[in-house]
Amino acid sequence: MHFIETRGNDGQHPEKISFSEAILSPISSFGGLYSPESLPDLGIDFLNSHIHSNYKTLARAMLTAFDVDIDADIIHRALSLYDNFDDAANPVPVVKVEDDLYVSELWHGPTRAFKDMALQPFGVVLSAIAQNRNEQYLILTATSGDTGPAALETFKNRANVLVACMYPDGGTSDVQRLQMVTEDAANLKVIGVKGDFDDTQSALKHLLASKDFKATLKEKNIHLSAANSVNFGRIIFQTIYHIHSYLELVRQNAIQMGEKVYLNVPSGNFGNALGGYYAMKMGLPVEKILIASNRNNILTRLINTGAYDLRGSEVIATTSPAMDILKSSNLERVYFDLFGAERTKELMYQLDNDKYYQLTDAELATIQTVFAADYCEDDEGKKYIRDTFAKGYLMDPHTATCFKTYETCRDKPLKTIIYSTAEWTKFSPVIASALTGEAGARDIDALKSIADKAGIEIPAIINGLFDKAVAQKSVIEKDEIEKEILSFL
Ligand SMILES: *Cc1c(COP(=O)(O)O)cnc(C)c1O
Repeated sequence: MHFIETRGNDGQHPEKISFSEAILSPISSFGGLYSPESLPDLGIDFLNSHIHSNYKTLARAMLTAFDVDIDADIIHRALSLYDNFDDAANPVPVVKVEDDLYVSELWHGPTRAFKDMALQPFGVVLSAIAQNRNEQYLILTATSGDTGPAALETFKNRANVLVACMYPDGGTSDVQRLQMVTEDAANLKVIGVKGDFDDTQSALKHLLASKDFKATLKEKNIHLSAANSVNFGRIIFQTIYHIHSYLELVRQNAIQMGEKVYLNVPSGNFGNALGGYYAMKMGLPVEKILIASNRNNILTRLINTGAYDLRGSEVIATTSPAMDILKSSNLERVYFDLFGAERTKELMYQLDNDKYYQLTDAELATIQTVFAADYCEDDEGKKYIRDTFAKGYLMDPHTATCFKTYETCRDKPLKTIIYSTAEWTKFSPVIASALTGEAGARDIDALKSIADKAGIEIPAIINGLFDKAVAQKSVIEKDEIEKEILSFL
């Protein structure tokens, strides 16, 4: 499989690259992204042939269908990390919550959030490519809270890879922060940045584009890469669980093979949704993908009106911080697939220059054949957490936003798969306040009160964080980032 550029070619970047090259350098001409030239057609035969496959077997078959240029033994090692999930035989359990509502739990990995689904195997693949090429890579990652821990976890002590991870100081939960600042491997650097996630992400994009910074790295013989959700090395692993979840519904006799379902995704940078979009394009029977947002509802407005309007918009802090995002990077790949490079470049330039673009009526109609969207206020989310807990299911505030789209966006009585993106332990103060009314609890107290109420244990991996030493102490202004990272190198 080859990758081509979402904004066309500038005469300097290669027009077409392999999967491993797309992993190493995700950014293409004019600030675009590398995107698959074509997708494999999996179809019903593929689904039927994997009805009894376990997760790893399915994943291996999909990577083979994508024809990635990664050796089989590396893929084997990468996928074996799913063995460390709670249940090696089934790393992604799909749980029935209502007659027509199933929750696919993507958080049974080491950092208890869905970023592990892609980053766990991605870490092995990237480190192996770097070792084969005998090159050193610096991964710069900006995190709103879940990518950071997952990236640090997967790359710690891996050969030929360094990680510098930036998070918005005060913009993450205690558990997320502790997961990052207690990591003490020599190849890891964690930096708290004063500002919100968009500031942190802009600083990262600025660094990735900086010629001076690249030149300095070159002197030190270090290459730059990114583990953010624009990296196709992550997206590819995020197509797999959509297929797996569908097959689970068939296995549980919830649907017949071939029956359409809704995929319902809590969205931020649109990586999860893009994985679903590709799965649908590859032949998964999907009616529509429901895009849930919080009050940062730019995607809801886009999908309902065709206008992407950042003018005067500021990121609003919500109880689902991993979705507090206004620039949803992976949407670009959907545009490229539907409307081509020229139009994608035009739209993305308008967004950069005018903070605004408007899709044509025809484009909007096309988008609406695939996606429907709504957003969920924090208070509504808490009510979904409370009501759903009363029915016996405990969920986090990101997952809860999907209950809104489930209620408002379906126009057919089809089975719906909600993707649960974080364990309750990662956002416990919000959940405690939803369940008991007690507001403002610290994570450690909230964890205890939820565990009590639900009659469950706090997972040891989370409980242990509170006793671990803080190894990473930097908290700085965003214009100090370049200096800080260079001194780490
Ligand atoms: C990253 C994340 C999301 C958003 O996923 P995208 O792929 O960026 O749309 C939602 N919920 C949680 C808990 C996350 O960590």
